[in-house]
Formats: sequence, structure tokens, C-alpha cells
Amino acid sequence: MADTRIDPAPFRWYGGRISVDFTATLTGHGPSAVEQLRTPTDLSHWSRAAHLSDAPLPDATPRALTQAHHLREALHRTFLHAAKPDPDDLDTISTWSARSLPGPRIATGPNDAPVLRRPQLHLTGDLLTLIARDGVDLLTGPHSHRIRECAAPDCTLLFVDVSRPGRRRWCSMDACGARSKMAGYRARKTQGV
Ligand SMILES: [Zn+2]
Repeated sequence: MADTRIDPAPFRWYGGRISVDFTATLTGHGPSAVEQLRTPTDLSHWSRAAHLSDAPLPDATPRALTQAHHLREALHRTFLHAAKPDPDDLDTISTWSARSLPGPRIATGPNDAPVLRRPQLHLTGDLLTLIARDGVDLLTGPHSHRIRECAAPDCTLLFVDVSRPGRRRWCSMDACGARSKMAGYRARKTQGV
């Protein structure tokens, strides 16, 4: 099957974790939300853009898309309220996380040295399981209190702040950080500061 390269550009990859990046497929959570997973094919595109699969997922159906949206919103709500999550959302995440998943393999690479071979995912269920497991790992790990929403008023993207001081404010310095700095500069200039 022809495997054309998937452009990762339409998707956002600022989260620092695959489960957090998955929540960014609905940008502007709220009234101005923009859905990036509009069709089952979009789910395949995201998986390939994330380097999790190397071919379209044959079982990416409307039902799988609905399940993906459901898991995504459960993760998003739980990330936002990690200290007191909704039990129903935890059930949703756990249901996917508890499924079995193809594991990594070891093989010989250049110079006959052992190398890790990550499994390529072939089913949407495996994709959702991998995402859910990453979410469980994040929510129960040392950075669970470092899941933040971007400080830009018009941006709702989440990210994991792994910086040592823990003062990261923006999903991306190149995007929201730069815009905010420019807005601050303009405001100071207008005020003659
Ligand atoms: Zn942002």
C-alpha cells in the first residue's frame, strides 16, 4: 500500500506527551472549538503524523472516531482537574488503558548492536490504548501536577511543564509566547513606558 508522508503541520505537538498532544486535536475547547479529527481518516492521519503507525488504520470507522473523541475529552477533563478527576472519566481512560498492546521488540541494528523496535500500530483500538496508557502514566507520575493550560487567553492547549523551575506559561514560545511578548511590548509603547 502506498505510504505517502503525512504532514504533521495541521496538528499541534507542544504537549510533551502523546496523550496531551491527543487532546490538542480539539483546539479552543469551548464555544470556539475547532475539531481536527473530523473524519475517521483524520484519526489515521494523526496516528501517522505522530509516528505511531506507518500505514492508514484499516478499522478507522465512524464508531472508532466517536470512541476517540470520547477518550480524548475524558483525558482533557482529567488533565485539567488532575487533583480531583471525575470517576467516569477515569473509567473511560482505564477501559482503554487495560487492553493488551503489541510490545516493543529487540533486534540487531547497525554494527550488530541491539536496538529497540517499537511496534507500529495497525488498529485504532491499539492507538487509543497507547494514548490512554500514556495518560495513566502521566497522571500517576511525577509530573501529574505539572499539566498546564497555555496562558494565552485565546489558547486552550495543554502541555506538561518539565522545566526545572516549573514556570513555563505557554504551549509554545514560538507561537503564544512570542505573541504575548509582542502584545506586552505594544501595550507598553502605547502607554509610553
Ligand atoms: Zn498557546
